Amino acid sequence: MLNDEAALSTLLETPGTKARLLVVDDQPINIQVMYQIFAGQYQVFMATSGQQALNFCRRTPPDLVLLDVVMPDLDGYEVCTALKADPATRNIPVIFVTAHTEAAQVTRGLEVGAVDFISKPVNPAVIRARVKTQLTLKFQSDLMRRLVFLDGLTGVFNRRYFDQQLGIELARSARVQTPLALILLDVDFFKRYNDRYGHQAGDDCLRAVAQTLKGALHRPADLVARYGGEEFVCILPETAFDDAMNMAQELESKIHQQGIPHADSEAASVVTISLGVAGHDGRANIQPAVLLALADEQLYNAKHAGRARACGSLLGSS
Ligand code: GH3
Ligand code: MG
Ligand code: MG
Repeated sequence: MLNDEAALSTLLETPGTKARLLVVDDQPINIQVMYQIFAGQYQVFMATSGQQALNFCRRTPPDLVLLDVVMPDLDGYEVCTALKADPATRNIPVIFVTAHTEAAQVTRGLEVGAVDFISKPVNPAVIRARVKTQLTLKFQSDLMRRLVFLDGLTGVFNRRYFDQQLGIELARSARVQTPLALILLDVDFFKRYNDRYGHQAGDDCLRAVAQTLKGALHRPADLVARYGGEEFVCILPETAFDDAMNMAQELESKIHQQGIPHADSEAASVVTISLGVAGHDGRANIQPAVLLALADEQLYNAKHAGRARACGSLLGSS
């Protein structure tokens, strides 16, 4: 939805979601000029040296940098090169603002990764228009990056993101020796649900399940993803096995309590889920596939024990 014109201008102009510009110039008078041009529309931050600019970008990445070329210590080219070399700041667009706009300088600026070059003294209307264009592109590419990791049907994270995060979280768990748990869950008798209520209702049901799961997770680091079809998976970092089992029971009862009728289920009269919990104490370095296989095995046990329940096991405990 954010790709339409109205939503984009909302993003660009609504108070509270104002775009953040960083103006970098060693001359305070130049910063003041820029401030007057942009302060009404955007949040404007200032830096009077290259190092200050880099520190700011690493700490609180802005949406765009207006960068002077000639500065003592680090010059604009060096600042831009450093920003582009760091994954955390690489996606911030940089516009050079300079009195030196000979071809060689412009070429060098573009080569180190700038998106545009604007000559001083600036024309307010021209610089406003160019900044707006670059911000629009920035928000569009931010959105694309986010969409790559979201499931199109349910809006929760997708398998690709899950695979990436499980690797990262397991490595962290091993490094700091903290536990981690995985919950794999599957909607019960979902084929029958589709058969009885139709595929469209099936899709609505998956969306409702995803939202309930998402709302039930407590901690910011907890994550729910669609694993595929009617299966979802949760990563619970820094969570001991017993706590993960409690969380799994809670997820089961919250889905139950949604009360979505399922007349053909043998587990209940409403939509239910079965869950497999795999715990890891963090003391050894393990592969993602090992933990996933354990969660899958436990999910299978839950299905065979009658569904609408959680089964679990702590890795290495049996
Ligand atoms: P069990 O309790 O053993 O898990 O039985 P089940 O019927 O849920 O399992 P089965 O794997 O036989 O069927 C899964 C069904 O989920 C079949 C498939 O059509 C449906 N499904 C998978 N993805 C989607 C989807 O995106 N939308 C809809 N509506 N249905 C889906
Ligand atoms: Mg199922
Ligand atoms: Mg399934």
